[in-house]
Amino acid sequence: MKINEITCKTGLSASRLPGLDYALNPYRGCEHNCVYCYAPAVLKEKRRWGSFVDVKRNLPNILAKELKKKEKGRIGIGTVTDAYQPAEKKYGITRRCLEILLKHDFPVCIQTKSSLILRDVDILKKFSEKEIGFTITTIDDEIRKKYEPYSSSVEERLNALRILGENNIHTWVFIGPVMPYITEKNIDKLIENIAKAGVKNVLVDRLNLKLGMWEKIKNFLSKNYPELIPEYERILFTKNDYFEKVENKIFMICEEYGIKCEKAF
Ligand code: SF4
Repeated sequence: MKINEITCKTGLSASRLPGLDYALNPYRGCEHNCVYCYAPAVLKEKRRWGSFVDVKRNLPNILAKELKKKEKGRIGIGTVTDAYQPAEKKYGITRRCLEILLKHDFPVCIQTKSSLILRDVDILKKFSEKEIGFTITTIDDEIRKKYEPYSSSVEERLNALRILGENNIHTWVFIGPVMPYITEKNIDKLIENIAKAGVKNVLVDRLNLKLGMWEKIKNFLSKNYPELIPEYERILFTKNDYFEKVENKIFMICEEYGIKCEKAF
């Protein structure tokens, strides 16, 4: 893993994601290295994703200046990176940004796969508006290790959700992207555990291929589930209702547990 300390010129960028006014990404690159990550396609990043992290050392200073002029709006932290990836433990850029954001009390929304976020509960709970989403795409940690290798375990994520909820921080789970047959396996057990963690909202999203993603996913499948390749090709490249059926199944199970489930975007 190559860690580069860099300086940035801007902090907040306008966000086109629904419900967000701004995006703030303390790092470029992500150590979690999820096989289905769309961030390199969005960023048009040529370097191998998962092999580098650019640490925006001066981001807190830039942000402090920007916030004096910006209109208040909802900030998504970690829209094309994970703000709580391992580098954050050493550099603390996300934490310092949160301290600055808290002074202006901008609403914050963080999506992560790391229980490191618990380190910042003391700050997070002071925001007037805050919400934390954890991505969980399988209940099986052996599978998680294969396709989200350097993220927190499923158990750690569920535990973090419970603790955040106990601290009156609104939480949700993003079941996405739905990885055909893999996410579906034991989906009822996953939703049962999400409910046990006190989560009341779930977002679900299908696997949408962007440039370069299929090669990486196919490579992952060849090593781990070669028998699924023809099925993935059918689901992803022909007209069919696979995702609709899985989404309906997830909606129904969530309803049983009193969880509000919506499609993302
Ligand atoms: S945690 Fe998010 S940004 Fe990081 S590799 Fe995984 S999907 Fe990409």
